Amino acid sequence: MLARAYIGIGSNLAAPIAQVRAAIEALGQLNQSQLIKASPLYRNPPMGPADQPDYVNAVAALDTTLEPLALLSALQALEADAGRQRNGQRWGPRPLDLDILLYADITMTSAQLTLPHPGLPSRAFVLYPLADIHPELDVPGHGPLASLLAQVSAEDLALVDEEAHG
Ligand code: ATP
Ligand code: MG
Ligand code: MG
Repeated sequence: MLARAYIGIGSNLAAPIAQVRAAIEALGQLNQSQLIKASPLYRNPPMGPADQPDYVNAVAALDTTLEPLALLSALQALEADAGRQRNGQRWGPRPLDLDILLYADITMTSAQLTLPHPGLPSRAFVLYPLADIHPELDVPGHGPLASLLAQVSAEDLALVDEEAHG
């Protein structure tokens, strides 16, 4: 079945702006899927360990017939292609992070996959680009995106200049 999924994209290593743009391109090539829209890119300070570079974040909307777990493995393959190594440090620096923020209206909790993504309701770097794509969105279990947005601050978020490289 065709489902609308929203993917959170993040990078803070190896030319993050280029990484995020390449990830959006790669999502456009994903099998059984069609890229519907991508948000502008935002720069923001790291979450967790502070001794790492700033992040660049964006969100993409995808229509896909991949089931949630198949989509997750496809995204993890793209992370690996970008050179991501998992060294156990939570929220440590990485060239690419691809999270499933939402998959249709599914709510689930399992060892591999929690939907909606548990960070979604509280992360400005997710909520703002999500609102750029779909301001009227209802987040399953959390209500209108606009109400979530009203509870976070955008003061640390900076739009990336469309001409910027790196
Ligand atoms: P966070 O999930 O808080 O943003 P992170 O993205 O740095 O942190 P990762 O190291 O990328 O965390 O992922 C750790 C595990 O999270 C993955 O192996 C995956 O199985 C699991 N996971 C659970 N729910 C999701 C989801 N909605 N999207 C992506 N991964 C998820
Ligand atoms: Mg993440
Ligand atoms: Mg992740």
